[in-house]
Amino acid sequence: MKKPQLAVIIPCYNEELCIEDTVNKLFEVINSLIAKDKIADNSYLYLVDDGSKDNTWNIIEKLHNTDNRVKALKFIRNYGNQKALIAGLEGVRATGCDCAVSIDADLQQDEWAIEKFIDEYTNGADIVSGIRNNRKTDSFFKKTTALMFYKTMNILGAKIPPNHSDYRLVSKRALDIMEQFPEKQLFLRGFFNEVGLKTAYVHFDVKPRMAGESKFNFMSLMALALNGITSYSVVPLRFVAVLGFFMALFGFLAGFETVFEKIVWNNSPNGFATSIILSCVFGGTQLFCLGLIGEYIGQVYREVKARPRYIKDIELK
Ligand code: UDP
Ligand code: MG
Repeated sequence: MKKPQLAVIIPCYNEELCIEDTVNKLFEVINSLIAKDKIADNSYLYLVDDGSKDNTWNIIEKLHNTDNRVKALKFIRNYGNQKALIAGLEGVRATGCDCAVSIDADLQQDEWAIEKFIDEYTNGADIVSGIRNNRKTDSFFKKTTALMFYKTMNILGAKIPPNHSDYRLVSKRALDIMEQFPEKQLFLRGFFNEVGLKTAYVHFDVKPRMAGESKFNFMSLMALALNGITSYSVVPLRFVAVLGFFMALFGFLAGFETVFEKIVWNNSPNGFATSIILSCVFGGTQLFCLGLIGEYIGQVYREVKARPRYIKDIELK
C-alpha cells in the first residue's frame, strides 16, 4: 500500500508562547513516523491563525520560511476554534493529503498518539477519534459542564461518546463528504460521529497546557454546547410541544374544577397565593420555551444569511 500523506492541523489563537515548541515536537512525531515507513515524506503541518493579536503570525511566517512543510492560513479576525478547525480541514483538502489529524496548539493532547491514529487508519478506519483518558487537567466546573453536555446530547439522540475531543484523524474520504455539508455552523463532533464512516477510537493522556492560558471562557463553551444541541437535535422542540400540551390540559382541568365547585357547592375558592404561583410558573415556563425556540430560530437565521464561515487574510502554501 502507498504510504499516506499526513497533514496535521493546528488552530492557533494568541499562542506565541507555545507555537514554536509545538511545531518542533510535531515534526519529531512526523519524522519518526516517516522513519518507520508509516507515512509519506511529504507529510506537513497546517497552522490556522484564528486572528491572533500577539506575535503568533510572525512566528508562523518564520517557521514557514525555514521549513516549507509548515503551511499556514491566517484569518482576518477571530472566528473561534470550530471555524479554525473547519478552515484547516478545507485547507488541507485543497492542498492535498490522504488523512488529516487536528491537534491543539498547546499540545495538551499526547502528540505521540498520532502513531496509533495512523495505525487505525492503515487498518481501514476513515475516522479515528481521540478519547481522553481522564479530565485531571480540567477545572471542576469544566468537568461537570462537559459531562452534562455529553449526557444531554445522548438523551437528545446525538450519540457522542463522552470525553470525546477535537483530536482526531479523518481520511480524504471524510473530507470529501464534509464538503457536501454546506451548513455554516457545522458542529464537527456531531458531524464526524454520525456521518456513517468506519470509526475507531484511540485513548490518549491529557497534559497541562504548555504555556499561556486557556482561550475558552464560559460564554464560548456555552455557545459551542448550544450550537451542538441546536444543530444536531430537534428533540427540545418536541419537548416544548409536549410540555405545552400537558400544561394546557392541567389548566383546563383546574378551570373545570373551579366552575364545578361554584355551581355545585356555590363555593368560590380563594386562592390568591395559588394564582400568583401558577402565573409565575406558567409565565416562566413559557418564556423558557420561547427562548428555546428562539435558539433554533437563531440557528435558522444564521444559516439563511449564508455568510462565509470565515474570511482568509493570508495563506502560506
Ligand atoms: N483556539 C482558536 N480560536 C479561539 C480559541 C482557541 O483557534 O478562539 C485554539 C487554541 O489556540 C488551541 C485550541 O483552540 O489550539 C484549544 O484551545 P485551548 O487550549 O485554549 O482550550 P482548552 O484546552 O482550555 O479547552
Ligand atoms: Mg488547551
